[in-house]
Formats: sequence, structure tokens, C-alpha cells
Amino acid sequence: MKKNLFLKFEKVLSSSKKIIIIPHKNPDGDALGSAISLNLFLNKTGHQSQIISPNDYPDFLKWLPAEEEILKFSNQEKRSKELIKSADLIFTLDFNNLSRIEDLAPFVENSEAVKIMIDHHENPSNYSQISYSDPSIGSTCEMVFNLLYSLNKVVIDRKIATCLYTGIMTDSGSFRFPSTTHKTHQIISKLIQKGANPSEIHQKIYDCYTLDRLQLLGVAIFNLKKIKNLPVVYITLSQKELNQNNFKKGDTEGFVNYGLCLKGIKLAVIMIENQQDKIIKLSFRSKGRFDVNNFAKKYFNGGGHINAAGGISNFSLKKTESNFLSAIEIIKKELNA
Ligand code: 5GP
Ligand code: MN
Repeated sequence: MKKNLFLKFEKVLSSSKKIIIIPHKNPDGDALGSAISLNLFLNKTGHQSQIISPNDYPDFLKWLPAEEEILKFSNQEKRSKELIKSADLIFTLDFNNLSRIEDLAPFVENSEAVKIMIDHHENPSNYSQISYSDPSIGSTCEMVFNLLYSLNKVVIDRKIATCLYTGIMTDSGSFRFPSTTHKTHQIISKLIQKGANPSEIHQKIYDCYTLDRLQLLGVAIFNLKKIKNLPVVYITLSQKELNQNNFKKGDTEGFVNYGLCLKGIKLAVIMIENQQDKIIKLSFRSKGRFDVNNFAKKYFNGGGHINAAGGISNFSLKKTESNFLSAIEIIKKELNA
């Protein structure tokens, strides 16, 4: 983190009284881990701060320290709006475009608070007065660690370390994505010294399937299709298949990654029907140079990172599948490069 930027953080924190912290909608381990660790740190250093999540999140994240203190805009709209209105500082974490917080966006946009972005996605938009944006870093939690460690490393305790470890682990695919660097492992080393317990955290996040979820994974793997002569596989899951396996939020998390364990595959995709929101949610994962951030942006109104991105489609599952196949046909040279 650059000295100038750090000084800006120090200055703005010294004069802020009411702080709000906002992760992206459907927050993942990185979004929640960064939000909670920052919140715990601020509370321990004499600040008044509150996390507002745009909506709820899966059960496998509901053991995180102090998670129960998070306000959810989707069911506490009035209180959330009041808090945002009276805030003088708003941190937005793990996203860089207000569209990622959907219904919350206008309240943040219209608030007079100073806005801070801490994020590692490509193509940041321009809504914040202070931006710590670095797509070369694997997780927002690593960035929050850099900030907290520079502000006051002594304040980082077991709870803060546990939240940061969780986000770094989940966003790095358990330290195997190319974004994992020696710096990542240096940070992890410090977090373990501060009390984070790697095997306990790993178990809480990954070894918590219900039988329904494991059987839904079976359906997903059964549905997986390979595109002939291309290093591409994709999975579809219909609302009916989700219902038949008593789908709960978060159950499909990580399913897309299974496609990449096939030898030679460079792009894996999952398309999941959501009848309630009338959309198909897509997730893209790639290996090597194929840029799924661009692909998601160009064809599915989404974005993310070079090797992990998401998007949406407003068409039926069948039509989304055929749109996807047409898009692949257009860019197939890149996939064989
Ligand atoms: P996932 O596939 O796990 O939902 O998301 C992978 C990455 O893409 C994450 O970094 C996430 O923030 C980003 N992402 C997922 N969905 C969307 C989307 O609809 N729009 C944008 N801009 N990014 C997304
Ligand atoms: Mn992230």
C-alpha cells in the first residue's frame, strides 16, 4: 500500500464519527471476511461502525466471528437507510461498481459521507473519494490486512485474523489460483501467528455439506457437457432440479470449479436458473490466459477477474445455453490459442 494512500486513510479515520461498511450483494467469504475484520478493528480502536449487507448469505459463513451483528438491508431497510443517511464515512468492500449492491446503490450514491473503495476487481468505477484498488491482489482481505497492519498491527486479534484468513482462503481457491503470491503466504503466516486456525476454518467452510447439497452436486456433474474440439465444459441447473434437491442459498457455491479438474480444460461455466429473480446466473472460471472478465462483460452483463467472473442472462435456460454456445463460436480462436 502506497504511503500517500495510507496517510489518506489515517486522516479520514481520525475525523470520522459514524462509519458504515458495505460488502457486495450475495457476499462471499472475501466480502464478509473483509467487512467483519475491518468492523472489529474499528470498534476496537474507538470508532462507531456498522456493517450493512445488501442481503443474506449462506449458512457456511454464519459461524464467522461477530457475524450476527451484520444488518441486512433486504429485511431491515428502514434502519439501514437511517444509518447510511447519518454516516460520515462509508467503506465499500470487494466490489468497485455500485451496481453490485443493487437496491442499496442510490442511498450510498446520495449520501454525503466520504466513500472509500477497497477492492481487487478489474475496471473500477469512480464513485469513491479514496480508492485502494489493485486487481493484482488475490483478495480484498489481503488489502484490508495491509491497511490494518499499517494502522496498528497490535490490534489484530484471533477474531480479526480468522475473518481475514477465511477471505484469503476462499478467494484463492485454498491458495492455488495464480493470484496466490509469496505476499499472500506471508500474510497467512502472520494471521496464523495471531491465532487463525487453518484446519478449523477449512472444515467450517468446506466440510459442511448437507446430503441434499451433495446430491445436487451429483446432478450438476451429471449435467456437465464438453464442447466438441474445444477446451470448454459447462453445467446447467434448472429451477426444477434445484427444487428436487431442496436447494438453499449457497448450495451451488464452488460447483463451477469441478469442470476445471478435467485435464486440458481451459474454461468451465455454470448456468443456474433463478425463477424468483427471473434470471439465469452464470459463473465462469478459466485457467491460463483466457480472460473471463472480458467474456462475462461482453456477453453476459457481468465481470470479475481474469480467471473468475460472473454474469447474468434474462433469457430462459435453454436460450442462455444457446447464446453461450454462439458466443463461444465467436471467440473459439482465443480458446485454442
Ligand atoms: P462467482 O462466479 O463466484 O459468483 O463470482 C466470481 C467473481 O466474479 C467474483 O469476483 C464476483 O465478484 C464476480 N462476479 C460475479 N457475478 C458478477 C456479476 O454479475 N457482475 C460482475 N460485475 N461481477 C460478478
Ligand atoms: Mn474478492
